[in-house]
Amino acid sequence: MKTPPRRYDARHLIFSRLALQKGTEAYESYYREYPKHQAEDDALRPLDFRQALRVDKAFKARFFPLTRQNHVLLQALHDSLRQQPLGTQVDVPEGFEKNLKAIAKHYGACDAGIVSLKEDHYYTHPEAMNTLLEKDGEPFVYKKRPTALVYAVEMDRTFINRAPHFEELLETENAYLKMAFIGARLALYLKQLGYDTVFQSEAYYETPLVPLAYDAGLGEIGMSNHLIHPRYGDRIRLGAVLTDLRLPADAPIDFGLEDFCKRCALCLMNCPSKSIKHQPRDVLGRRFYKFDDLTCYTMWTRCGTDCGTCIQSCPFTQGIPYETLAWMKNHPSRIDTVIENHLAQHGRRAYQKSPLDIILKEEVKP
Ligand code: SF4
Ligand code: SF4
Repeated sequence: MKTPPRRYDARHLIFSRLALQKGTEAYESYYREYPKHQAEDDALRPLDFRQALRVDKAFKARFFPLTRQNHVLLQALHDSLRQQPLGTQVDVPEGFEKNLKAIAKHYGACDAGIVSLKEDHYYTHPEAMNTLLEKDGEPFVYKKRPTALVYAVEMDRTFINRAPHFEELLETENAYLKMAFIGARLALYLKQLGYDTVFQSEAYYETPLVPLAYDAGLGEIGMSNHLIHPRYGDRIRLGAVLTDLRLPADAPIDFGLEDFCKRCALCLMNCPSKSIKHQPRDVLGRRFYKFDDLTCYTMWTRCGTDCGTCIQSCPFTQGIPYETLAWMKNHPSRIDTVIENHLAQHGRRAYQKSPLDIILKEEVKP
């Protein structure tokens, strides 16, 4: 019997596969070993999903640059961190993790937690999805560190409720930048204290962040396979710094999401590509759900954004009063009441069509 893998393999991620270039050794060896998706990946690879957005040329010229070139900013943040020399080590007192979490929140995180890193938190083949460079054009050198500070950045509901329109893409890209800024700020700080630290950002991940955030106690994994935060739902993006500073770890939380998802399934019902399945699966000891990343990405290439309908659909995204969580946990009829109230207020999804000011066309002056 084939032994199940004990670590996440970054080569299998849809973005890693789409980054493969035909004719290279990496492309040939990957599809030789895993031929299953080759034809579908080849068809998707040349497509720029944004071009599918149904807007005119003037709109594209004016607003598309807002969602491009973020890697230039990310590279600058990573470069600044690399140039920061490691300081003389400063002893930190017991309880310092509370300071660090408060500092993360001061710089914009809505929640933070600590994980003691184990081997299986790390990707195998992280280089498959990382496109930033460390120095002199060289790829990053990976090093295992003992601790992760994981944090969440809240996304604006008014933007998310416009999904799958352009506002949703603006907000997710915005959240990726905020998360990188917080990570860079924390990592610079910890290096000055004498603890070698890197931050995770779009285009540079050593670890998958959903399992890490689950272990840090930031939320539970929902049917959408996203981390669902008890206060902000699916309306978050995740970041992390990996550091040599050893800190006491937090524990996963249980607010009854597994039972809630079984009775809700709104993300599954609203997903336009049927990518979300109600089939739980165990991934390295955590409960995830079966998910088709290829059909999901294909939908992006049809709607012209990263869709986000599943994020918008989640009742926790729209807000369930925090005190309700303990009341409904282990009480199916109470969960049903919460879902019925959500449906009465928002319908099957809290979609709003009217464009936000940020992309309104200019007014015609009298
Ligand atoms: S982003 Fe859209 S297509 Fe992808 S899983 Fe979510 S709802 Fe489905
Ligand atoms: S929409 Fe419902 S089923 Fe999907 S993750 Fe949220 S609570 Fe779970």
